[in-house]
Amino acid sequence: MQVKNLFRSLAIAFLALLAILTIIGILRRDHNGWTESEKALILRQDSLMNVTLMPKDSAILRSKAAELTPRMLRSRETKELVAKMLYTVRHPSQDGVGIAAPQVGISRRIICVQRFDLPGDPFKACLNPVIDTLFGEMAPGREGCLSIPDKRGIVTRHQGAVLSYTDAETLEYHRETIEGFTAVIVQHECDHLDGILYTDRADSLWTVSD
Ligand SMILES: [Zn+2]
Repeated sequence: MQVKNLFRSLAIAFLALLAILTIIGILRRDHNGWTESEKALILRQDSLMNVTLMPKDSAILRSKAAELTPRMLRSRETKELVAKMLYTVRHPSQDGVGIAAPQVGISRRIICVQRFDLPGDPFKACLNPVIDTLFGEMAPGREGCLSIPDKRGIVTRHQGAVLSYTDAETLEYHRETIEGFTAVIVQHECDHLDGILYTDRADSLWTVSD
């Protein structure tokens, strides 16, 4: 009878230890919100990231990207991802004016946009961007996409946008009115975060060889 009780106590202690270790494991894995596979993709890739392409990467390019939690905004992973996205979009092999995180395989709400409305046309990264309002006249314009390199098209879009976001450099919250070509880039990149591609909105599309 006593031996049986001892075994029962040991079994309970073992299960309790197992439960504690499992909880610690979960907490460690999710301590800042990034999954292990996201961390691996961000931290192990070189500065020039692999750009996801249609149609082979349509699963991620067609998904709705998740918001960054407050803890994720301040994480090392976000800092590294933003630096690598900025490097990738400006690299001569890409030469883009904007890129969204799903285009480097990360389904999170981050965009990098060349700000032609600011002196020096700098690239800026926006975390959790939200287009509050679109305004101004609708005008047709030529668009391309790093994820659809062999196509160009004409898309009609608003020429003004009010954008809310967290600045990746300062982590300050901004609400800004953006006009002209930059407003078009913002719409194209924010569409990526909802799985929408410019080809869905294009009035006309054509194939390019280079
Ligand atoms: Zn694009």
